[in-house]
Amino acid sequence: MESAFIADSMLGRLARWLRIIGCDVEYFAAIEDEELVERAWESGRLLLTRDTLLVQRRRARDRCFFVAGDHFRDQLRQVVEAFAIDPFARFLTRCLECNTLLQEFEREGAEAMVPPHVFATQQQFRACPACGRIYWGGTHRERMVEELKEILGL
Ligand SMILES: [Zn+2]
Repeated sequence: MESAFIADSMLGRLARWLRIIGCDVEYFAAIEDEELVERAWESGRLLLTRDTLLVQRRRARDRCFFVAGDHFRDQLRQVVEAFAIDPFARFLTRCLECNTLLQEFEREGAEAMVPPHVFATQQQFRACPACGRIYWGGTHRERMVEELKEILGL
């Protein structure tokens, strides 16, 4: 089964990279430990945390995955390996800002919403139905692919 996660506030960069590879990750920059654990229980999400005290809490114990590394690169490698995630199977299918699944977006509809040079050079657009952000391919995407390969040693 596909894992859904909720990341503690220390894991912002990890949460973003997990969204880049298409994982379902809730993240709040500011949230109380108590609420974090509650949300994990209510939503059936696994709590990714760097907090050794939180891991030891009775209610959190079965819902936690302890992230060992200090650096997001080590953290990403650890999570990808632990959950056997294929990093390219769902690459950039999720909104990096709000975690919603992206939808294909008619190219004509994008014209008024993206810079002219982007519209002229890109064929495929995706939009976030929740926050309205528009995504397209291009050099940014290629850079992310390269960095991901480097992080994961592929
Ligand atoms: Zn969004």
